[in-house]
Amino acid sequence: MKRIAVFCGSSKGFSEDYSKQAILLGEYFSRNQIGMVYGGGKIGIMGVIADTMIAHQGEVIGVIPGLLKHEEVAHQKITQMIVTKKMSKRKVKISKLVDGYIALPGGYGTLDEIFEALTLGQLQIEKKAIGILNTNNFFHHTLKQLDHMVQEGFLKQENRDMIMVSDTIEILLEKMKTYRAPQMTKVINTVPRK
Ligand code: AMP
Repeated sequence: MKRIAVFCGSSKGFSEDYSKQAILLGEYFSRNQIGMVYGGGKIGIMGVIADTMIAHQGEVIGVIPGLLKHEEVAHQKITQMIVTKKMSKRKVKISKLVDGYIALPGGYGTLDEIFEALTLGQLQIEKKAIGILNTNNFFHHTLKQLDHMVQEGFLKQENRDMIMVSDTIEILLEKMKTYRAPQMTKVINTVPRK
């Protein structure tokens, strides 16, 4: 994998563990010559991983919509900053630049971005690997919700299984390298439960 999109919080969270693992991921990417594409911010976990990679001479590409490009938010020291007109254009641009996606802990923005990647995957518009770095089991409830969708007939197990999950960077990246996208239609023809 040459470049990976990282989706993560514009905040740092209450535990230092989130920043610590973002630093480890930034170091891993730099060591393995994997470039990072991300939201272009200098704040929160985004800023932590970008700073780490810059300190280790890694490639960091920010893709930021014009409306978020304020002095206090946009990172000034990354390899390249691409400014898009709209939020929606930013996602398209990010997807063109990367071979896979990883989510770290975050809020609405992070969930929106990783679920858009999953939606493209289940419609087979893309076949890229999608991973979750599950620091402190942060995504436990999100993953439980997905299992509930499978149980209730709204999500195929094969599409649920598109997400690779680990709290260990090396294991997650190994899973992502060997990922094969599912080959089936998304819709489930359910019959009502009696
Ligand atoms: P959140 O998880 O809600 O903190 O949002 C973080 C995610 O949304 C990141 O992956 C970014 O791509 C995007 N994002 C949210 N806020 C900003 C911001 N101020 N500057 C750049 N990107 C942002």
